[in-house]
Amino acid sequence: MSYSLYVLRFVDGQPAPMDETAIREVLGPVTVGGMPATGLPECWDLEAEDGGGAEVYGNALGLTFSRFAFGDVLDRVAALARRTRAGVVPQDCPIILTDEDDRGHLPESLRAEALVVAPEALTGRAIQHLISPHPEPRRRPALPRFPYHPNPVATGSVTPSDAPCVCCGQERGWVYTGPVHAADAPDSGICPYCIAFGKAAERYDATFTEGIENIEGDVPEDVVAAILRRTPGFPARQSPTWLTHCGDGAEFLGPAGARELEKHPDAVDDLRRRCAEWTWPPHQVEGFLASLDKAGRPTAYLFRCRLCAARLACADSPT
Ligand SMILES: [Zn+2]
Ligand SMILES: [Zn+2]
Repeated sequence: MSYSLYVLRFVDGQPAPMDETAIREVLGPVTVGGMPATGLPECWDLEAEDGGGAEVYGNALGLTFSRFAFGDVLDRVAALARRTRAGVVPQDCPIILTDEDDRGHLPESLRAEALVVAPEALTGRAIQHLISPHPEPRRRPALPRFPYHPNPVATGSVTPSDAPCVCCGQERGWVYTGPVHAADAPDSGICPYCIAFGKAAERYDATFTEGIENIEGDVPEDVVAAILRRTPGFPARQSPTWLTHCGDGAEFLGPAGARELEKHPDAVDDLRRRCAEWTWPPHQVEGFLASLDKAGRPTAYLFRCRLCAARLACADSPT
């Protein structure tokens, strides 16, 4: 195959040499013509027990395997990574590490996406699975975890898509469909991974929600940043405010109408309190609450406190 994969080790963000003896011992037995008496060849061929081959070049600071076969050759690659504590980087895939402690040694750009698998789980088959993860019918990968928006597929902010992400260029199987607030950002086509890892926020100086309720500054700055910059937002007629409770951001459960709110009297009370700001007579507030429609306008937005589980709600304002 024309595909390559790399084995390399990092210390403090810089490439660091792998143990040359380990390279010789792991790859030597399947090196065509054998290893030289000392050091490593500049470039060499492998032929593994099952007949699969690969071309190898590089040195202790990093080896490239190209035209490699699945099977025993990949098992050798996995063994090499385990022995030298190096990472395996299949082309267009995140780096695979065998120890969480090594994540901090990676260059910043690789850190967030790095996968960590236990050494005993790093096998040729595991690498193969990462390279071709989509046996038909295509299974979409698990979404990243969004603490403040636990199910963005259910709320409609993320939908399946086979198109490559406009930010990272990868086909992630999902696309974000909510608002993007930035002077110069694509308004569609960003994958949820680029949101979760902060890549899209950083690249476009974007937020996905405009504001967060932060009464008397009781929500820490890192929570504000996580909600505005690393959490999928949701579409609303006005820019909605992300609700907070117990000093933390609340989790967004989705749009709701009068019918959906019936089950949550605490959310209706919360919403009623917010409507008080409009200084309407009570019958007008009640009429507004009754008119809320999940799919229409005005719509309410339902949240739940992550600490005390109280339901909260805000709504499109009528003006
Ligand atoms: Zn992306
Ligand atoms: Zn609470």
